[in-house]
Amino acid sequence: MRLRPGRPDIGRYTHRFSVPVAESRAPLTVTWLGVSTLLLDGGASALLTDGYFSRPSLARAALGKVSPSPARVDGCLARLRLTRLEAVVPVHTHIDHALDSALVADRTGALLVGGESAANVGRGHGLSADRIVIAVSGEPIRLGAFDITLIRSRHSPPDRFPGEISAPVVPPVKASAYRCGEAWSVLVHHRTSDRRLLIQGSAGFVKGLLAGHRADVVYLGVGQLGLQGESYLADYWTEAVRAVGAHRVVLIHWDDFFRPLSEPLRALPYAGDDLDVTLRVLSKLADQDGVALDMPTVWRREDPWARI
Ligand SMILES: [Zn+2]
Repeated sequence: MRLRPGRPDIGRYTHRFSVPVAESRAPLTVTWLGVSTLLLDGGASALLTDGYFSRPSLARAALGKVSPSPARVDGCLARLRLTRLEAVVPVHTHIDHALDSALVADRTGALLVGGESAANVGRGHGLSADRIVIAVSGEPIRLGAFDITLIRSRHSPPDRFPGEISAPVVPPVKASAYRCGEAWSVLVHHRTSDRRLLIQGSAGFVKGLLAGHRADVVYLGVGQLGLQGESYLADYWTEAVRAVGAHRVVLIHWDDFFRPLSEPLRALPYAGDDLDVTLRVLSKLADQDGVALDMPTVWRREDPWARI
């Protein structure tokens, strides 16, 4: 197979970067920080998915060993003025999600919430048992003003490092040490504002899994989605967006995560994904359903509940 060189030009989609900027009185804001790292800030309490800030280069991830970069993690936390979090929730435990989760939890006094695999990332870092919460699929967990429910779903095909992490991960390690673990659909309810969202970190689904759950907004992981057939994209949309009755979908996990956040984001290369296909198919579905389809602007505090 001959790989197509290059990558989609996100400049073609500037009109999609239209999630409303949060006003100062917004009760809950969402800040996207690349891949599926999202800061949910409700003022009195805040949550973070993944917390992936180190973003080692492709050469290092492919050939060398990886460990969290305290300089990059601390730099990002400082830029966010983030000193306190209720929890860090890796959506699954591949490197581009979970590499820094335990370090971020450590720095911010947060709990690390996930499955056994995430717990082993935490144990390897030296987080104590009382800072690690092992989720049971479908059972809500109270975290400050938030209730979150992790529901065990599937990773998008192909899963390059499948399986569980069955022993503590002590970096530096090969990127392959970060096996997928549990791939979660994360339902969040912010009780104070009664706002709900679904964070779907990976573009996998289980038919009927989210039936009966509601979310006004979906942060939809699209990594590798552009490599699937059109019927897969339609099924994914049905299971993640229609199932919860969302009015706005914000696409995440489309950026090239081998570049640091200090550089402008660009799309994943065609060798690993095709954002053009994803946007062509999903725009059609969003138009049919009357759903807003947006892309988030990195570092910007946004209010995806505004104007829906
Ligand atoms: Zn993954």
